[in-house]
Amino acid sequence: MKITFFGGASEVTGANYILESGATRIMVDCGLHQGSSAREETNWAEFAYDVTKIDALFVTHPHIDHIGRVPLLMKRGFRGKIYSTPPAREAAHELLLDSEHLLFGIADRAGIEPLYGPEDVMRAMSVWKGVEYYRPVTVGDCTVTLYNAGHVLGSSSVLVQGADGKRILFSGDLGNNPAPLLGGKDMMPDADYCLIESAYGNRIHEDLAHRRELLEDAIEDTVKNGGVLMIPTFALERTQELLAELDDLIESGRIPSVPVYMDSPLAIRLTEIYKKYPDYLKAGTFDFHFKELHITSTTEQSKAINRAPAPKIVIAGSGMSNGGRILHHEKNYLPDPKSMFLAIGYQAEGTLGRRILDGEKTVRIFSEDIPVRCKVRAIGGYSAHADQKQLLEWIATGRDTLKRVFVVQGENEASTALAQKMRDEFALNAIVPEAGKTYEL
Ligand SMILES: [Zn+2]
Repeated sequence: MKITFFGGASEVTGANYILESGATRIMVDCGLHQGSSAREETNWAEFAYDVTKIDALFVTHPHIDHIGRVPLLMKRGFRGKIYSTPPAREAAHELLLDSEHLLFGIADRAGIEPLYGPEDVMRAMSVWKGVEYYRPVTVGDCTVTLYNAGHVLGSSSVLVQGADGKRILFSGDLGNNPAPLLGGKDMMPDADYCLIESAYGNRIHEDLAHRRELLEDAIEDTVKNGGVLMIPTFALERTQELLAELDDLIESGRIPSVPVYMDSPLAIRLTEIYKKYPDYLKAGTFDFHFKELHITSTTEQSKAINRAPAPKIVIAGSGMSNGGRILHHEKNYLPDPKSMFLAIGYQAEGTLGRRILDGEKTVRIFSEDIPVRCKVRAIGGYSAHADQKQLLEWIATGRDTLKRVFVVQGENEASTALAQKMRDEFALNAIVPEAGKTYEL
């Protein structure tokens, strides 16, 4: 067997791996590169391989840095089947349509051809099969099985067994346990080789109880002041986790019942997918008791939020305030000293969310200078990724069989730190692979 790292080596995004076993070629993930504009430009580059020769694509989960180039794969003539769990398939459909729209805007502004169109998304969905965890799929002379990665709804680790019996495991993104909605990730299945993610390979998270206290404080302060709590959030998992936590806090009487507006059409559609797959969630976590949860799909409903009396909580995309409906609320309420901006996710350099968090006194929204007079806070523990401690615990269970570990999906610093830890603590043969390089297994 041979593996080549076409993306995800020394970078968090752009996961894209090809495994060759005899005449069988299996791809795992085909993600978009995200971050700096130089990195994003590489999304428009041609694939470095013949897409028509790939037998199947396995998708670990529907984050865009794992699926964002799948429609391009179709456009370039991929003829195989695509596999993921059924909820991951459904969420991927929504997220790819959203991504197509965003990419179209980027191409339009740059005066270049769009990366792909809605018809390519349709084509991908037509060959995309849902497969449950632990049900092996045969591709050529390989057998492929999905395990629960506990990262987002229906997320998987992918285990491939070749004709020679060798087993290679692709971790996908691994969840941050305990997670409020999802059951924990599976223990690592026995494997000879493993690719392990390392987004937080050199960091340790705030714990769940602490982050809940911080959320409670933010809500109490905003309610007391009669302001608006703006929470920019990611549509997949983060929004649903937040809803579950708010429901819990209200239900247990820890916060007063305050109107909550879920003002993101994408998050609303994704939440419906969560409701369809209760078997993928912890029992009872999605039976909301909210009296005052307002779902605002249409633009009119969204605009009406402005007229509703404070206090109120508004959850809207995008997660880093670089687009989406949150901008309208920020324009209205950033100047209000009674209100609060609460970041619950990573805010990348250059985004509006980051500028607000960094304390800029005036920001530009819709070509207007908006003064920031509201309170600004951040909660760090909401990551959907395992931290260094959890990554080490997960890989430790496989130390007896592992011949080699490839540390991927992290910035070089994080990947290198994690690989070093694995060598030091478990005597594992752990390396950070080189981008574009092929390794014999
Ligand atoms: Zn992910």
